[in-house]
Amino acid sequence: MKETKYIFVTGGVASSLGKGIISSSIGKLLQARGYKVTIQKFDPYINIDPGTLNPYEHGECYVTVDGHEADLDLGHYERFLSIHTAKENNLTTGRIYKSVIDKERRGDYLGRTIQVVPHITDEIKRNVMLLGNRYKFDFVITEIGGTVGDIESLPYLESIRQLKWELGQNALCVHLTYVPYLAAAGELKTKPTQHSVKELQSAGVQPDILVLRTEHELSLSLRKKVALFCNVEEHSVVQSIDAPTIYEVPLLMQAQDLDVTILKKMGLPVGETPQMAPWRAFLDRRRKAEQTEPLHIALVGKYDLQDAYKSIREALSQAGTYNDRKVEVDFVNSEKLTEANIEKALKGMAGIVIGPGFGERGIPGKFVAIQYARTHDIPCFGICLGMQCMAIEFARNVLGYSDANSREMDEKTPHNVIDIMEEQKSITNMGGTMRLGAYECVLQKGSKAYKAYGKEHIQERHRHRYEFNNLYKEEYEAAGMKCVGINPESDLVEVVEIPTLKWFIGTQFHPEYSSTVLNPHPLFVSFVKASIDAASEASV
Ligand code: GLN
Repeated sequence: MKETKYIFVTGGVASSLGKGIISSSIGKLLQARGYKVTIQKFDPYINIDPGTLNPYEHGECYVTVDGHEADLDLGHYERFLSIHTAKENNLTTGRIYKSVIDKERRGDYLGRTIQVVPHITDEIKRNVMLLGNRYKFDFVITEIGGTVGDIESLPYLESIRQLKWELGQNALCVHLTYVPYLAAAGELKTKPTQHSVKELQSAGVQPDILVLRTEHELSLSLRKKVALFCNVEEHSVVQSIDAPTIYEVPLLMQAQDLDVTILKKMGLPVGETPQMAPWRAFLDRRRKAEQTEPLHIALVGKYDLQDAYKSIREALSQAGTYNDRKVEVDFVNSEKLTEANIEKALKGMAGIVIGPGFGERGIPGKFVAIQYARTHDIPCFGICLGMQCMAIEFARNVLGYSDANSREMDEKTPHNVIDIMEEQKSITNMGGTMRLGAYECVLQKGSKAYKAYGKEHIQERHRHRYEFNNLYKEEYEAAGMKCVGINPESDLVEVVEIPTLKWFIGTQFHPEYSSTVLNPHPLFVSFVKASIDAASEASV
């Protein structure tokens, strides 16, 4: 395709309507037609990136292969499209302003007054166009975070207005709203949608397509009414009804010809229907798997918010489908775990995931859970901080160093089995000071991790400051915890396992970030399989 097409996705009425899922679904349908597609997210907050944001407030921080700490919506984009996103795929108001202010300090503006329009909007537009110009995507889908009407969104809407004017048919706006059902009146209400579109229009942006989130089927007459009031064609009003899984959404959109409408509006040939066969096959398998008796997996962590472990939950759920089993992830708050209640807390759990995280809080409970899993031979998967806790628990209870710890939790621990890398010690700026992004790892042949991957050389994403202390490596190995994954350049330990147990593996990296719908992550698939096997052994 000669020219890149730009699709903007905005949202109104309420947050959390699933703009990320709609953006991903549109992307999937276009990708399935053979187009090169990427998706970008603009977050209207002032932070430079979400790396320093509390997961309680904002959900997980997603990490791209090129080492960017990003919004969790990028995880949806990668899971749906099986693409790699990068730094350019996630921008914040903070980064836009920083770049403009840096230019101003350098004198690039030659003494002119710097204003929101045109300087901030130009910087936003430059970042939208960058993906098309530099990487030659056929489609760049830009999701605007927040809700129309927020003060923070205004510069983004102004940028869309300008781009729609400049790009003509090559730009299009999809607006997502919500149609509430008033039980007392027994009616679905379109007024919030009308108001939201008015708000968008008052910023000079006319939406081309409206996607209405709803819990009930929307009638044709309701859609006609919305079309009439909002200056949108009837077939450009589509519904996004609650689905049993988010992975159904691309097909629900396809059934309403959303992809065809987009192509027509952008002056592209409609051609043949998209190649969604692999996606459909996944969904068929998933629907069957969801009928089975749930396999309970405990997710031990301190962030009591669904989105805080989004990628882990999705990776487990996908691994369930590929094992033809429904996986139920049960959050277990590590802050509440003690030796006295651990048996009850983990009752009925076929496997245990020890989650990633930062700081001291909730750590003692993780040790209790790990010790329980290790001594009862329950499949256990430690991720990042989870892996570090596995190493500390082993040092305390097997190697006999009762004061062993990570320097993150205890600066002065005499047995620093987890320690900070030399070069990180002097850094005081908390943003982006970690080992971030993909690093190579060589797996030891014959190990369980190697068997799961089926290969020796892997690349996985990192997000941490602390590392396994190699001074203790020999002691660990002699006592039965093996270091089976090593970074070939730095010699840092990436994977530990206890081979005599059914499945006890800890990874310093985050495998969850690279599990996608069509390419589930081998470690999660193998962990869920081991949990199924262990559960069925226990029941005979
Ligand atoms: N807090 C640990 C570190 O910085 C682990 C981080 C994580 O789990 N992502 O090394």
